Formats: sequence, structure tokens, C-alpha cells
Amino acid sequence: MTRAIVIEKTGEGQSASLSDITLPALAAGDVCVDIAYSTLNYKDGLALTGAAPVVRRFPMVPGVDFSGVVRESRHPDYKAGERVVLNGWSVGEKYWGGLAESAVVRGDFLVPLPEGLSLRQTMILGTAGYTAMLCVQALAGVDPASGTVVVTGATGGVGSVAVALLAARGYRVAAVTGRASETDYLTRLGAREIVDRADLSAKPRPLATERWVAGVDVVGGEVLANVLSMTAYGGTVAACGLAGSMDLPTSVAPFILRGVTLRGIDSVMCPLPARRAAWQALAREIDAAQLDTIAREVPLADVIDTAADFLGGKVRGRIVVPIH
Ligand code: NDP
Repeated sequence: MTRAIVIEKTGEGQSASLSDITLPALAAGDVCVDIAYSTLNYKDGLALTGAAPVVRRFPMVPGVDFSGVVRESRHPDYKAGERVVLNGWSVGEKYWGGLAESAVVRGDFLVPLPEGLSLRQTMILGTAGYTAMLCVQALAGVDPASGTVVVTGATGGVGSVAVALLAARGYRVAAVTGRASETDYLTRLGAREIVDRADLSAKPRPLATERWVAGVDVVGGEVLANVLSMTAYGGTVAACGLAGSMDLPTSVAPFILRGVTLRGIDSVMCPLPARRAAWQALAREIDAAQLDTIAREVPLADVIDTAADFLGGKVRGRIVVPIH
């Protein structure tokens, strides 16, 4: 038996509990992993609370990412004892996920633990950190000397890592946050300017004064629309999230009058070569001291109570769930 968080369908919706489950037998290509660390991401918050239809099969073990050690493998690329990382591929949505003592997953979903990162460090980064790197890589053509790069939802998981990575690459980072109380935290991560989220929450004008040459957006909605209207001529904005809204109340003006590029970022189905490259870049570029700044540990038994914090925008940095 394996201890796991289990989400079940009920008459009124769904319920979550810490339970014992029996993992499926290994089919050809599968790998059984003893999980060392899992994490909580925004999507796990949605799955655990049922606030959005993230879970597509019940009963479901949530958890979109984990790191751990292979216990048994029927995949040619993995052997018992190897250290691996998983994120995305609809694990925790369609396939049983990482908020458990062990998991059986397709070996094709795994990447080897990136050299230079520990099992704990990979999960401090987790899906949020790896997505932040995909966003930063989408801005690779932006010259650090050309101006400011803006990051929205800056105190959250993706935002915190994006601020740290961009600052380490030499960019002047403007961090947008609804939490002025976290100014010191964002400054420690490398932000040089703090922007009040309220400044970007008004109805967006088609074009506004140019404030930045590029951006990473996790919020969507009016915040992203304002980010676009304030992006300088020829700038690029990488959009990965909907923490504020799924809508995008913008116009074509930033695109056709300023040549702004909106780059969509998806981490879930991202092909393996790009995923490995992102993890290797994280291992090279992230500062281990910054990881300690952003990490908070929550035991498996407290995961269900913590999940709602994501919906209230109360999570700072990354939540790591130590398992083994
Ligand atoms: P977090 O909850 O850790 O961070 C989100 C941040 O957004 C919050 O900390 C807060 O920052 C801000 N925020 C929260 N609520 C609102 C609101 N109502 N209006 C405006 N800002 C708000 O989440 P993650 O960093 O884990 O994920 C961020 C987003 O990115 C999510 O939408 C998630 O689904 C998405 N995502 C997408 C991926 C992909 O593959 N495309 C992969 C990973 C994440 P502050 O208080 O500083 O303003």
C-alpha cells in the first residue's frame, strides 16, 4: 500500500483525503518511483479545492510534479536506483500524481535528475521553476542593456523563480505584486523596481507609455493587457498563467503598431528535448541560496489544508512536500 492524497467524486462535487492506495502493476514502459519530494503548484491548488475542473478522472492522486528514486522499471532508459524528476504530461490530472509515497508513471514522462541539483532543489523549483525557465528562454533575444523586464505575480512560484533567473542573467527586473509587504523578499531575489499590481489592474488603453522591453506574465486578464500596452517597440512578453483571469481584454494595437510579440508558454506537453534543456539551464543558472529563500516545507498531512492558499493569492515562493 502507498500513502497518498486521494480526490474522490461526491454527489456535491469532490472530497480529498489522505488514504492508502494500491498502485497499478507496471505495464511495459512504466517505471515505479519512490517519491522523495513533491510540491504544491497553483494547478494542484485548483485540483485539491475543485475550484477548476483540473482533475479529469476519479479517484485521482493529485500532484503535477515529483522527484524520486526508481524502485522498479520496465522502461529501457531507467534502472532501479536512478534519480528522476517528473512534471506535467497531465500527471495529477489524468494519471495518478506525486502527492504520494510512490508512483507508477510512463518512463517517457521522466527526465533524469539534472546534474548539479539535489532531489530537494529540483522540487523547490518544480513545475513553477521549470516554467519560469521556459519563459526566460523565450526572452533569450532580449538584450539586458535594452531596458527593464517586467514579471507579474512576482511573489508566487513562477514569479519568484523568474525574478531570480532574469536578475542572474543581468536584466533590470520590475516585479509586479499585490503584496507591498513582500518588497524585501523581491529585492533579495534581484528585483530593482516594485510595481503595485493596482497600477496594472485598470481598464487597459490600447497603447500606454513604454515601460519595459519584455515581460513574464502569470496573471492574465487586465494585468497582461496592461503589460502588453506598456511594452516597448519590438518587445516580447511570455505568458504562462491565469492566476488573475483566463480573459485577455486587449486590442491588436501593441502587435500591429509596436510589433510586440506575445509568446505562449506551456510546460505540460513541452517536448522532452526542450524540457531537458530547461532543467539543465536551471541547474547552471539558479543560485542555491535563492532556492532556500523561496522554499517552505509542508508535510503531506497538511497539503489539503494548504491548497486553498493558492486561490487567495497567499502563497509566497514555493511549497515543497517532503515524502521520503
Ligand atoms: P502562485 O499562486 O504561486 O503565484 C501566482 C501569483 O499571482 C500570486 O502569488 C500573486 O502574486 C498573483 N496573483 C494571485 N491571484 C491574483 C489575482 N487574482 N490577480 C492578480 N494577481 C494574482 O502560482 P504559480 O506561480 O504556481 O502559477 C502561476 C500561474 O502560472 C498559474 O495560473 C498557473 O496555472 C500558471 N502555470 C502555468 C504553467 C504552464 O505550463 N503554462 C505551468 C506552471 C504554472 P503577487 O501577490 O505577487 O501579486
